[in-house]
Amino acid sequence: MSNVILECRNLIKSFYDPLELTVLKDISFSVNKGEFISIVGRSGCGKSTLLYVLSTMDTDYSGELLIDNEMVTHQSEQQLARIRNAKIGFVFQFHYLINEFSVLQNVMLPALKLGRFTTKEIESRAMEKLKRVGVGHLAGKNANLLSGGEKQRVAIARAMINDPAIIMGDEPTGNLDSRNAQMVFDIFKELAESYRQTLLIVTHNQAFAENSGRIIEMDDGKIVAK
Ligand code: ADP
Ligand code: MG
Repeated sequence: MSNVILECRNLIKSFYDPLELTVLKDISFSVNKGEFISIVGRSGCGKSTLLYVLSTMDTDYSGELLIDNEMVTHQSEQQLARIRNAKIGFVFQFHYLINEFSVLQNVMLPALKLGRFTTKEIESRAMEKLKRVGVGHLAGKNANLLSGGEKQRVAIARAMINDPAIIMGDEPTGNLDSRNAQMVFDIFKELAESYRQTLLIVTHNQAFAENSGRIIEMDDGKIVAK
């Protein structure tokens, strides 16, 4: 079995509105199981665009993408939805929790959608993930009652619920103060080291990147260091 969890080959992506703009210019790299990778580069260099392609949400590109040894490029929208839900967890700058739902219900949602386990099993799995990120005691609370740092930890538990092959993040500490940013970093580090969770995280935070396992640096649509 290969140790590679994600591989992209010669990714090229352009936008055509308002003018033609090539944003990803022949991007190739691979990610091994258990790696904690930061993607860095100045604003506008293509980091979010790259993450959209790698997360299978954007299919308008040329090149090839493989996730967990499966060719993702050219799959149907239905297949992509399955791959996304089963293989990828997301953490964004903003948490996107459903305010009217409890913390536990929020974490359970992607697993209910996947339908791989019974509701009872999903509930105990969700509790386990919440405890792992240190917010088990908040399970019954409504999401809107949590602090920003607590919400982001719940978002990480939600990203973990289907045991994804890879967790991707787009500036997951971008909206947090330094103490909470450190806490989120520590959780990611622990997930990588103790559970071999693969992580691919776009960040502006220098210390975050330097303390992760590997830095992929982009400049103007190209990778300049990996
Ligand atoms: P980063 O995340 O590194 O700040 P982005 O990937 O968001 O950069 O954007 C890269 C470039 O692509 C920027 O010049 C941005 O203006 C452009 N861009 C992003 N999304 C679109 C879009 N939907 N249509 C046209 N141009 C876009
Ligand atoms: Mg961005």
